[in-house]
Amino acid sequence: MILLADPGRQFQFLKNELMEQLGHFIGSGSYVMGERVALLEKKIAEKLGVPCAIGVGNGTDALVLALEAFGIGEGDEVITTPFSFFATAEAISRRGAKPVFVDVNPATYNIDPDKIEACITSRTKAILPVHLFGQPADMDGIGSIAQKHGLIVIEDACQAFGAQFNGRPAGSFGHAACFSFFPTKNLGTMGDGGMVVTPDPDIAAKIRKLRHHGSPKKYYHDLIGYNSRLDELHALILLSAMNHIDRWNEQRRMLAERYRQSLGHLPYLQLPVEREGSRSVYHLYCLGSEERESLQDALRQSGVQTGVYYPCPLHLQNAYRHLGYRPGDFPAAEQLSRQLFAIPLHPFLRVSEQDHIVSVLTSFRSANP
Ligand SMILES: *Cc1c(COP(=O)(O)O)cnc(C)c1O
Repeated sequence: MILLADPGRQFQFLKNELMEQLGHFIGSGSYVMGERVALLEKKIAEKLGVPCAIGVGNGTDALVLALEAFGIGEGDEVITTPFSFFATAEAISRRGAKPVFVDVNPATYNIDPDKIEACITSRTKAILPVHLFGQPADMDGIGSIAQKHGLIVIEDACQAFGAQFNGRPAGSFGHAACFSFFPTKNLGTMGDGGMVVTPDPDIAAKIRKLRHHGSPKKYYHDLIGYNSRLDELHALILLSAMNHIDRWNEQRRMLAERYRQSLGHLPYLQLPVEREGSRSVYHLYCLGSEERESLQDALRQSGVQTGVYYPCPLHLQNAYRHLGYRPGDFPAAEQLSRQLFAIPLHPFLRVSEQDHIVSVLTSFRSANP
């Protein structure tokens, strides 16, 4: 089977490098909140050009802690996209705040800034855009609305490490940005991990306390916090992955360009659109089609894994029934959830494997040619 994402190949590639460091690590006696986490925080802050970075337990916690650090909670509204992984909205709800969904741009799959202002109320505290599938949201449009209305911007950059918008890194636009290091993310570890970045040293200090039981100093507690630390083991793996991430993202872009050249002419497929000025890292390569199921069947029969991201938009999830949204509220997100499917794209996908995927898609017999 040709896999959608193949972290096994990535870690096999890093194996020798990791085995050597693991030897030192095992004997080091320092496994939680040590020098590796501090070094990773420094490297990520430098890479993104953001002054502060705080390693946390996972991407979902990164969002929860960032929202909490800005005081967002009960009675507040946070504007976000209905077309994302559930954790985006879940983090808002976890804080006791209310997610307010705004439809996406059907070409970029990201929140449509033109639709945001109509949803701002006196309770709105923040906008939480997602850089979906590796492509940055329109941070110009979002930034100017936020500035005009005095709103906090927290970027969900969990799928977009290394992406750029008008030459600036995704994660460097908001009051804070959140990353996930889940194994299949484009910067991933062999387990869970996450990071918040922020230009605001006070917010950073608060998140540093929150991740570790509200504690600024051993056995002294300023806040009711969490146990949401990034393990040294994951920092070790991520430091090694950081040495290769630029090349891996380049490889993703090269493969995306090959798909574009070989699939762009097929009338039964809509290809992802890279917006002018944006540099996607293609966390996922999602195609749109009215014949999604037949295409997925054809690929499965030829040994190619596919996946649907995301089959149910957030406003129609059972968990959000109480918010009172209805089918038809967000036509673009709903259509994407019916039509999109992902085909394999990752830095260790071989060109011969990609050629096989392309040949299955180009020889597909469309029901309405
Ligand atoms: C993966 C992901 C998250 C959550 O990250 P975890 O590390 O799995 O908790 C949040 N938002 C988006 C868009 C994601 O893709």
